[in-house]
Amino acid sequence: MSDLLQGKTALVLGIANKWSLAYAIAEAFRREGARLFLTYQGERQRLTVEDLAEAVGAEKTINCDVTLEDDLTRLTETLDGLGHLDAVVHSIAFANREDLSRPFIETSRAGYLLAQEVSSYSLTAVARAVRPSMAGGGSLITLSYLGAVRVVQNYNVMGVAKAALEASVRYLAADLGPANIRVNAISAGPVKTTSARGIKDFSQVLDGVAQESPLKRNTDPAEVADTAVFLASHLGRGVTGNVVYVDAGFQIVAL
Ligand code: NAP
Repeated sequence: MSDLLQGKTALVLGIANKWSLAYAIAEAFRREGARLFLTYQGERQRLTVEDLAEAVGAEKTINCDVTLEDDLTRLTETLDGLGHLDAVVHSIAFANREDLSRPFIETSRAGYLLAQEVSSYSLTAVARAVRPSMAGGGSLITLSYLGAVRVVQNYNVMGVAKAALEASVRYLAADLGPANIRVNAISAGPVKTTSARGIKDFSQVLDGVAQESPLKRNTDPAEVADTAVFLASHLGRGVTGNVVYVDAGFQIVAL
């Protein structure tokens, strides 16, 4: 522990279980001394996230489905009484399973809009909801994937949503920079999580990365988490509008 986040408060959205990238980030934030709040998506997840909050030493859990304006308004109100927020982690995505297994051209209008709403628009909605608590400065971090800029088999509609997410990072960074709020994405290499299991033939992607990446291995969630610590801390103070790859170097490889 090096106390990089000592005296800072962070909100982490997107913990489903211990395998979630957001959970690894929450653990690393606590290790570095941050005060922590977590969100959960509806009653279905409340008890699970309350248990995980206790395990990781988070102070508070807040109900927030990012597609619901009422939840986002309540998030703003709840945060209002909790002091200054230094870091927010948006680690949220969703697409229909069938859209992650058939040709992209078959994507339905509803499936496309759903993926965009949950996985991309929600970053902007969350940024607006947390901005009052971040007045004076902070760091907003989201999670992206290589499928935003390259064609990855079966990633399909989620790749298009991640492209919009990365563009949103740049526009939000420009909007919020004058308030000293930095906005960045971490583009993580593939990790076996609940969301990732929804992508057809995902284990082949893991095998391919382990064979072909410069570091000849897959990504450890702890590596993603340590990059989030850097971005949330004083060390990242000059970095905004960026997509930082934490992927064992796979993004530079061509066959
Ligand atoms: P995960 O554990 O399944 O996390 C996804 C989270 O999104 C879950 O907590 C889920 O909540 C939440 N979510 C979905 N819809 C929501 C909504 N309407 N409101 C609030 N929360 C909602 O999977 P993960 O892999 O850690 O994913 C986290 C982020 O990392 C995603 O943006 C993903 O695209 C990105 N990423 C993952 C990988 C990878 O290979 N795993 C690689 C690069 C980037 P519920 O469980 O309650 O539905």
